[in-house]
Amino acid sequence: MKAVVVPRPGVLTVEEREVPRLEQEDGVLVRVRAGGICGSDLHIYHGTSPVATYPRVIGHEFVGEVVEIGRKVTRVKRGDRVVVEPIMYCGQCYPCRTGRPNVCERLEVLGVHRDGGFQEYVVVPERNLHPFSGDLSWEEAALIEPFTIAAQVADRGMVQEGDRVLILGAGPIGLCILAYLSLIGALCGVADIIPERLERARELGAAFVVNTKASSLEDEVLHHFPDGANVVIDAVGLPETFERAVRLVSRAGRVVVLGFHTTPSAIPQALVTLRELTIVGSRLQAHKFPRVVELFEKKQLHSRKLISHVFPLLEVHRAFALLEHYPEATCKVVLTM
Ligand SMILES: [Zn+2]
Ligand SMILES: [Zn+2]
Repeated sequence: MKAVVVPRPGVLTVEEREVPRLEQEDGVLVRVRAGGICGSDLHIYHGTSPVATYPRVIGHEFVGEVVEIGRKVTRVKRGDRVVVEPIMYCGQCYPCRTGRPNVCERLEVLGVHRDGGFQEYVVVPERNLHPFSGDLSWEEAALIEPFTIAAQVADRGMVQEGDRVLILGAGPIGLCILAYLSLIGALCGVADIIPERLERARELGAAFVVNTKASSLEDEVLHHFPDGANVVIDAVGLPETFERAVRLVSRAGRVVVLGFHTTPSAIPQALVTLRELTIVGSRLQAHKFPRVVELFEKKQLHSRKLISHVFPLLEVHRAFALLEHYPEATCKVVLTM
């Protein structure tokens, strides 16, 4: 079978590998059918991921078909169409015991710490599989995982119907967050510096969009949300976007950060205390797959306007080049196997 491997930073190859064997009783052999390329795959390729190890088969946003099951598997059967939940956790540590396996002390993510989904077959434990019904295309279903990230953000930011939300960054994750929060009934403004991305945000239902190269974000936010944004989501992840998020949020507001930047941001205590802000991180997702699968099955969430390109696995180099050189022309790029 073919596998997309990053043997070391800066190198991306398609290798011929053995189809993995089912060895565990709770294991399931999945024929991968589609996988979305994520910003973090690009980071692993460039050696800028703070967590990845090498060599690595990348890809963590993937779906496929069950072809073989271990002796003790009961939740899925041959022929089921499944989305893979890419986190592996211990179930024993404090985060796991308190319902937050996404920050398990022994967390491993498929495609990051363990081989992932950009290969034709994978073996995963059955608890990592979530079946979905038949009429979603493979490409569409590849967007389920990024929407679980959005569901986690909604949860961490305690977003309610009617909340005024500002989303910094209109890349694929920012747009998934926009679509998810709009479904909850939040009113969302979106900021970015790429007009094409802002146009997508508008089409996906943003109440307003701001090109921060052309106009003042502060003025625009106050114009549309006179009390400030109740929730600000930093889907850009720079030291200065974090600072901006804390400045722009309303009293009793929430700031959600998703970035992995290690440079400190300057956040004065007074700003946090006087307005009693809640500042939280949001990483991966915890128990969000069932809900997101259901929303996809009911067509309340969908991948329309989010998938810009689909390539066969063997054209992974073209797909990566497109993502890196044409951010204005791309959104989610999906590989098919
Ligand atoms: Zn991702
Ligand atoms: Zn754990």
